[in-house]
Amino acid sequence: MPHYAAVVFDMDDTIISRTDAFRRYLERFYTENPALHDHPRESAIQVMIDWDGHGETNKIEYFKMLKAEWPGVTESPEKLTNQFWAQLAEEVVPDPSSNEVLEQLNHAGVPWGILTNGQSKMQRRKTVKAELESLAPFILIPSEFDDQKPSPAVFQRAIEETGSLASETLFVGDNPMTDIRGAQSIGMPTAWMRAGKSGWTSGSPEPDHIVDHVRELLPFLI
Ligand SMILES: [Mg+2]
Repeated sequence: MPHYAAVVFDMDDTIISRTDAFRRYLERFYTENPALHDHPRESAIQVMIDWDGHGETNKIEYFKMLKAEWPGVTESPEKLTNQFWAQLAEEVVPDPSSNEVLEQLNHAGVPWGILTNGQSKMQRRKTVKAELESLAPFILIPSEFDDQKPSPAVFQRAIEETGSLASETLFVGDNPMTDIRGAQSIGMPTAWMRAGKSGWTSGSPEPDHIVDHVRELLPFLI
């Protein structure tokens, strides 16, 4: 069984449920926008989930699609996008089952941290809402230095924070390209969070571990 000296986590849909936060945002958006009410609530929400592509869709484009479907939504895509970023962060809640794992890492003295893409202000707010700000030994948000995953430089920076070697630091994330390929590019072992998807379909090399929850990785860390 492999054993790792340190671990770096992606945040969204790895140690917090961005999926659940996004659904709560959509529930509220539907309630507050009568223009959508020509569709039943569940079908409207499912359409809006599909457009999102697990967060990959550019949000200006996203709200252009939304306005094309529901012309009664009158705010501009830019305004809707700004509201979205602010509100999504507010919908984040702590995940006690993940935070318990992270507390165990702290208790055992395992070096770890968070490496997350996205807007600085929003991601910082999420770390507060998820009670990760006080828990995490380090939180790296590469947009703060004009970079992002999968750039090898940002993974290298995370490695330096752990004080371990790339080859003995596990990277855990849900995005095959930005997380898994990025970490593999500097020789880190990887764990892919399935996050509701059926299986790994992104080719070779495959991640070293495929898991549904970070607790499954504890035996490799403690
Ligand atoms: Mg993610």
